[in-house]
Amino acid sequence: MIKYLPIFVTALLFISTSVFAQRDFSEVEIKIVPVKDSIYMLQGSGGNIGLSVGNDGVFMIDDEFAELSEKITAAIRTLSNKPIKFLANTHFHGDHTGGNGKFEDAGAVVLAQENVRKRLKNDDKSAGLPVITFKNDLTLHLNGNDIMAVHVDSAHTDSDALIYFPQSNVMHTGDTFITNGFPFIDLKSGGSIDGDIEAGKAGLMLANSETIIIPGHGELATYSDYETYVDMLKTLRENVQNAINNGKKRSEISTMENLTSTFYTDAEADKSFINGPKIRETIYDSLKAKME
Ligand SMILES: [Zn+2]
Repeated sequence: MIKYLPIFVTALLFISTSVFAQRDFSEVEIKIVPVKDSIYMLQGSGGNIGLSVGNDGVFMIDDEFAELSEKITAAIRTLSNKPIKFLANTHFHGDHTGGNGKFEDAGAVVLAQENVRKRLKNDDKSAGLPVITFKNDLTLHLNGNDIMAVHVDSAHTDSDALIYFPQSNVMHTGDTFITNGFPFIDLKSGGSIDGDIEAGKAGLMLANSETIIIPGHGELATYSDYETYVDMLKTLRENVQNAINNGKKRSEISTMENLTSTFYTDAEADKSFINGPKIRETIYDSLKAKME
């Protein structure tokens, strides 16, 4: 039986890739959500897009999927006729960077933390690699804001950046903060529960009680929503750590709904990207990796 495993795995990969390739974007509409001043959030399919429009041109954060680039551009054109000058990626995942090549072809300069470039290159995505990369942080002076891109290490991935508009007091957190369920912590791409918590703390330090937050996924949020989310991360971590300390195995922790149900029951979590067992296993694996 075991000798057939590689074939089975290959078949599965093929199936999931082709399902993804056949994904129908034709029904997706791009929704424009005013945030503050001349900053907007766009929502279609994939990660939330942040936009700053003004005399200096359009500054864009993330770009969803390549199939949506035309629709996204059309939505931007209802807000500004200026060129899309810069496109920042909050991290390397395809639902945030899929349009990089299209926007780069249209003249945008793509910028991101250096691991975004490394990981996209490793994934053989030669189109739309960031041309400006930074290790820790970078500041752009555009449209009346000193826009700060700040790397938070080993969080959702190893390539995350928070993007903050201090004058307008708006922050895009990428997927280090989402409002539609448990976090996805991509351990295979350098993420960790402790780093994700640290990213939350860093974001809260950079922001203040009046900051409007564009999360990686989900609806526009307040500072207090962000605090609640970071508290959730801390509690989830603590609950799983306590279970480990009490000698629970991975397979047991996977089924212990009470570790996570004060936030989302397993039935509720089933409706979003990360279900109950998945978040408990992920935190377990992240804590175990740290102990080894
Ligand atoms: Zn992501």
